[in-house]
Amino acid sequence: MYTYLQNNQLLKGWAEEVEAHIHEKFKEIDQRVELHQMRALKAFREEGVSEHHLAPSTGYGYDDAGRERLERIFARLFGAEEALVRSHIVSGTHAISASLFAVLRPGDQLLSITGPPYDTLKGVIGNEQDGSGSLADFGIGYREIALTASGEVDVVAVREAVRQEKPQCVAIQRSRGYAARPSFTIAQIKEMINVVRTASPQTVIFVDNCYGEFVEEEEPTHVGADLIAGSLIKNPGGGMAKSGGYIAGRAHWVKRAATAVVAPGIGSEGGATYGYLRDYFQGLFLAPHVVGQALKSAVFSAAMLERAGFPTSPRWNEGRTDIIQQISFQDRDLLIAFCEGIQEASPIDAHLLPVPAPMPGYPDDVIMAAGTFVQGASIELSADGPLRPPYTGFLQGGLTYAHGKAGILIALDRMLTTGKMKKG
Ligand SMILES: *Cc1c(COP(=O)(O)O)cnc(C)c1O
Repeated sequence: MYTYLQNNQLLKGWAEEVEAHIHEKFKEIDQRVELHQMRALKAFREEGVSEHHLAPSTGYGYDDAGRERLERIFARLFGAEEALVRSHIVSGTHAISASLFAVLRPGDQLLSITGPPYDTLKGVIGNEQDGSGSLADFGIGYREIALTASGEVDVVAVREAVRQEKPQCVAIQRSRGYAARPSFTIAQIKEMINVVRTASPQTVIFVDNCYGEFVEEEEPTHVGADLIAGSLIKNPGGGMAKSGGYIAGRAHWVKRAATAVVAPGIGSEGGATYGYLRDYFQGLFLAPHVVGQALKSAVFSAAMLERAGFPTSPRWNEGRTDIIQQISFQDRDLLIAFCEGIQEASPIDAHLLPVPAPMPGYPDDVIMAAGTFVQGASIELSADGPLRPPYTGFLQGGLTYAHGKAGILIALDRMLTTGKMKKG
């Protein structure tokens, strides 16, 4: 494969050196994949999935046995009582928004204990009664507890706030998303849940699980979260889902969330599946493997960029709880060259050049590389970053390790050639 690169001698040397030591990490990833594959097989078998469950329903979509089985399989795999898995959920943001509107009522309070939430949730939370339909518009209060300087949850402040304010809902975000802080592991989330439960047993604990599914052995619902939500064009769709989201957790709250997504009195009973069930079943079946491929791509990218002299987070050999790889390019041209390289290595729109541009919700221009089969699917290889120091880029996805590896080599090749990266 190296003959396709301009700097083939150098990059082949680095890649061979790196692959000689990352294989120990790959072994760990393979074991995790095998565990999740076994669990998936067991859940499919126990739910008795048959050919006719893959067939579409129409109209109101009542008594759709395939949809019901799929949702029970999600619930089993996530250690949840119930799950809602729908193409009618437009995105991860929609799944999270519906979860919050399920739990919160006027006069209630939402407390984020992992600092500021993902950018798209700012509009969901809102800040005044302005007719926007946000939580604030409905008279729901919001407060967040900042992370400590080292990026950890401020346990003392959280315990105090929860004890005194007894918020209706506490929100935890597992993945760093696009913030410069570490992601939170399941062990850390378990500790947070214990602190909140002890201080206020009736508080509902919600976890934004985006990018985390199948990375660790367990999900937040296994360790006590009441409700979690995520996107199907990330991990659990396995690259097959064309759109959609899921919500899982305690039956009471999932039913309320179904009411928020559909309508009171209908809830999860309705929702025709006109053709998406086959993709969802097959995507979920493939998800453990695909997540493993994305993780291997992330480990390779971290090791290669560390070899080239760039700070990364997580480091190649650190534990992971999501598929996001953060790279600090420390130079505007290098961040741009890297994203251009990832775009050039994409199956779709490889001939286009990504250009930094303003984005709603971001103070600086953002560059995005996303030549994906499913629009915006970040389980497929993609990269992006805001154009401000220290020029941090985020890389995620890769349906196959071979593609992830090729993409990173092409991106490094471009950094060496047009980005004038040092060869040391
Ligand atoms: C992707 C993501 C979301 C939701 O994003 P959508 O683009 O609406 O699917 C929410 N939180 C985090 C941490 C995410 O990574």
